[in-house]
Amino acid sequence: MNSKYEAVIGLEVHAQLLTDTKIFCGCSTKFSTAPNTNVCPVCLGHPGVLPVLNKKVVEYAVLMGLATNCSVNERSAFARKNYFYPDLPKGYQTSQYEEPICEHGKVTIEFKDGSKKEIGITRIHMEEDAGKSIHDYGDTTLIDANRCGTPLMEIVSEPDMRTPEEAYLYLTKLKQILLYLGICDGNMEEGSLRCDANVSIRLKGEKKLGTKAEVKNMNSFRNVERAIAREIERQTNLLEEGKKITQQTLLWNADLNEVYPMRSKEEAHDYRYFPDPDLMPVVVEEKWKNEIARNLPELPDARRDRFISNFNLPLYDAEVLTSSRELANYYEKILSVTNDYKSASNWVMTEVLKVMNDEKISIADFPVTPENLGKLIKLINDKIISGKIAKDIFPEMLKTNKDPNEIVKEKNLVQISDTSEIENAIEKVISANQKDVQEYLSGKEKVLGFLVGQVMKETKGKANPQIVNELLRKKLST
Ligand code: ADP
Ligand code: ZN
Ligand code: MG
Repeated sequence: MNSKYEAVIGLEVHAQLLTDTKIFCGCSTKFSTAPNTNVCPVCLGHPGVLPVLNKKVVEYAVLMGLATNCSVNERSAFARKNYFYPDLPKGYQTSQYEEPICEHGKVTIEFKDGSKKEIGITRIHMEEDAGKSIHDYGDTTLIDANRCGTPLMEIVSEPDMRTPEEAYLYLTKLKQILLYLGICDGNMEEGSLRCDANVSIRLKGEKKLGTKAEVKNMNSFRNVERAIAREIERQTNLLEEGKKITQQTLLWNADLNEVYPMRSKEEAHDYRYFPDPDLMPVVVEEKWKNEIARNLPELPDARRDRFISNFNLPLYDAEVLTSSRELANYYEKILSVTNDYKSASNWVMTEVLKVMNDEKISIADFPVTPENLGKLIKLINDKIISGKIAKDIFPEMLKTNKDPNEIVKEKNLVQISDTSEIENAIEKVISANQKDVQEYLSGKEKVLGFLVGQVMKETKGKANPQIVNELLRKKLST
């Protein structure tokens, strides 16, 4: 970016909450292929019905507030945000406005070089989702109200981010926390996590905020990053041409890598918020708040730091292993069998994650149990098998999830530490490779590696390489 300017970014993130039922009625939130079936007079906004707030929604919002260092307001209230749209049968969205449930939080993002930055959270509030307009039936638009009344939580950040990367890291952190709490599945592609990016630029050193534009319609984390980068570029060009930034809402087009203004009619809004007369204020007393707090799991940052201090892992390992709660659990279960923390980490970060990527499976579906992987590591450490043999056994475990001890027995893979057997192999290799032996003896140290390899081959990889090394050296020095 043009170095005269600095970007200012604030994100509004909507997270669909994983409750069984909707926010103000008992309708199911489960996905249904049949449109307009998970509906009732309440979520369809029929006259004369009364909403009843889902307690779980409050608990989830409080959990998120606690996890992001917010203060939880003892009293918050719902308001009506009035606007007309075909997929909003009520004619207003029930949301929170002046009195949100959580405020004044922060999360910490970490950069690749290990440095950190805090991003402020202005507020977290509860609201309901609208339905879906389906435009792909020729000239007809269809309405599916199944999503009406699905609980959402909106997390509004302070304008604290300065680069697209920071926005990406912030989003990643929010998603990680949501997944650890188990309150949202975090799937941006499917719309259960949505992000609107507010972007402005200003001259470096300037304290006042510039006029912002809001960019919508990004369906992946990478697209959020790209859309913000493009918007910064667009605004920079405008200022450089001596033009002004107008406050507006833009839609991101990923295929064209470009932002386009929304039709101004869609954008013009005066929501005429007013307190919802049908809903009581939400009261979260200290006692209830503490009960909810007791359900807080160990959060990603804390878990990462514990992995570093308890298991002596490098920051990089700890971050990868705690990227999801399930992966971190898998890793810790390996440690119930072996306390070789670093080997366990290496196996997860290379072999396990590779298979997960290649096969596109989650750790929940990983065929090798952590206990069996732990046993494999233990077999190496107990010098029963070599690391190389372990790499051969692992694919077999992937196929069968057998106990590696069994595979070792079945295939007779126990490492040979019996020196006489190894000495036999060494004799053979020496007599078959006289030229290399001479080279080694004339000072070419490197040749030893080749000879060790030949002995390993002779023993079908079962010899203990350390013993081979020692014996070979001894033999060749006499
Ligand atoms: P609006 O009233 O348009 O919704 P808000 O003040 O509620 O604006 O802020 C919405 C989001 O935009 C917040 O995440 C906030 O941090 C961010 N924001 C506000 N002003 C700016 C600005 N000038 N530049 C970038 N982001 C901003
Ligand atoms: Zn309903
Ligand atoms: Mg706002």
